Amino acid sequence: MHRKPRLLIVEDEPAIRTGLVDVFVFHGFEVDMAEDGKTGLHKAQSGKFDLILLDVMLPGMNGFDICAAVRAQDRDQPIIMLTARNTDEDIVQGLALGADDYVAKPFSVAQLVLRVQAVLRRSGFDAQQQAVIKLTGDVQIDTRNLSANVRGESVAFTRREMALLEYLYQHRDRPVPREELLHKIWGYARDLDIETRTVDIHMAKLRRKLECDPKQPQWLVTVRGGGYRLLTDAASP
Ligand code: CA
Repeated sequence: MHRKPRLLIVEDEPAIRTGLVDVFVFHGFEVDMAEDGKTGLHKAQSGKFDLILLDVMLPGMNGFDICAAVRAQDRDQPIIMLTARNTDEDIVQGLALGADDYVAKPFSVAQLVLRVQAVLRRSGFDAQQQAVIKLTGDVQIDTRNLSANVRGESVAFTRREMALLEYLYQHRDRPVPREELLHKIWGYARDLDIETRTVDIHMAKLRRKLECDPKQPQWLVTVRGGGYRLLTDAASP
């Protein structure tokens, strides 16, 4: 089973919101929605969504402020702004705050679906990803629901943590260098001299969630001079 892209729609006009939900469900998305700015911000910051469609004029908090707040927390969260305000200044402001694209109302639904798919592709979303990763008999990771069953307990992950796990799983035949993870998961250019500590912090979180003893990892192992490697029943000696 392949996984569906997860979409959050933040839009206060009921007719538009309902219409968008129908269209994206029809196109194979898993859709959640919010009707006001505060709820939208809360859901947008959950780190669960592959893409956020964000209206600008919203009760409670406007879309530009939501976009900025989400970006402050996750610079790679894909966001498309929707707005009736169609002046160049708004477009510049939306993009400056980090939106990946900007669609003016009234929009063609077919166009919007194409724009959403284009941003998803650029963000590295891969529908061919496996839905369930089995680490060992008692750890099963459900990539679609960003959760895992770890020795009988349900554990939740952020989108980024799951992307890391999925990448390590796809390359489980070898250790993956930190620089490669920064490049593939965070989108940093390979030649930038970037703090690889970011990777280590995320890896520590994953170990706390998955390992019996995070200090003596069994599956998410560090390979001296090589980076990280995910061991599974199939790959371990
Ligand atoms: Ca609105």
